[in-house]
Amino acid sequence: FKCTRGREFSKGELKRFGNIEISPSAGVLNYGQGLFEGLKAYRKQDGNILLFRPEENALRMRLGAERMCMPSPTVEQFVEAVKATVLANKRWVPPPGKGALYIRPLIMGSGAVLGLAPAPEFTFLVYVSPVGNYFKEGVAPIHLVVEHELHRATPGGTGSVKTIGNYAAVLKALSAAKAKGYSDVLYLDCVHKRYLEEVSACNIFVVKDNVISTPAIKGTILPGITRKSIIDIARSQGFQVEERHVAVDELLDADEVFCTGTAVVVSPVGSITFMGNRVSYRDGGAGVVSQHLYSVLTRLQMGLTEDNMNWTVELR
Ligand code: PMP
Repeated sequence: FKCTRGREFSKGELKRFGNIEISPSAGVLNYGQGLFEGLKAYRKQDGNILLFRPEENALRMRLGAERMCMPSPTVEQFVEAVKATVLANKRWVPPPGKGALYIRPLIMGSGAVLGLAPAPEFTFLVYVSPVGNYFKEGVAPIHLVVEHELHRATPGGTGSVKTIGNYAAVLKALSAAKAKGYSDVLYLDCVHKRYLEEVSACNIFVVKDNVISTPAIKGTILPGITRKSIIDIARSQGFQVEERHVAVDELLDADEVFCTGTAVVVSPVGSITFMGNRVSYRDGGAGVVSQHLYSVLTRLQMGLTEDNMNWTVELR
């Protein structure tokens, strides 16, 4: 789909996956005008395919595009593009229980621009790839390290949108953490250097005495769609859920910690290292609350239970 500044995206077309040609002075290459989304399609037992809350991704992309001075597809255009791409790649949706088809919608400033300004032309595209588990641990608990020097986002910055530069900003800490054997990095706020923000590509939850807490959405973390869904599921199951400032010291006596995201689904945390100390969680991290929420969410996403929430979209 193409769009010139101030206009709407054209009607798109399906193309075979391959390289695209772009100007060396494209806005995305020089000034980081790029924004993406991520969602998954799961195969049901009857062979049909389920999308999970695609309108939420469309709405988040619209908010992000506004922040990045880019046009965005309408919700209908976004959902139609996702559906058409998945249907054209139906054979790549893994069988039930064997993974998912990851869907990557992307908008970029593809037009040429030299002085600092929004690009004159934009491209919206969707590509897909089959995926298995995000972490090498599979569904086993992951190990996080708190980053004390580098920050992912600053107040007033772009931390709450899925712009490409946010991911470049985490690569250094993430690579260093992986080289030391950790699964991922947990970031703190850059003002007090004390409150939890999120992990490189997922949100974080802390459980204490059956109360579930997660950092509130305040402009520096991504409003995860899995985060929002888990909050609704947990509340509907009778849990108390608090969205608030969660201090790093609370990790010391938490019962369970888990991460949520499209890629990581619900991943239990086995240990967190901060200020040189390693805190390990009960039962190696395979906590009952995270296991329960994982099971409710994934059964819904895979069409194994009735979708009372009306969150799934079925493709035939
Ligand atoms: N935070 C960041 C930085 C992310 O990249 C993601 C993945 N989109 C998330 C949180 C989780 O968001 P979602 O549940 O919508 O995938």
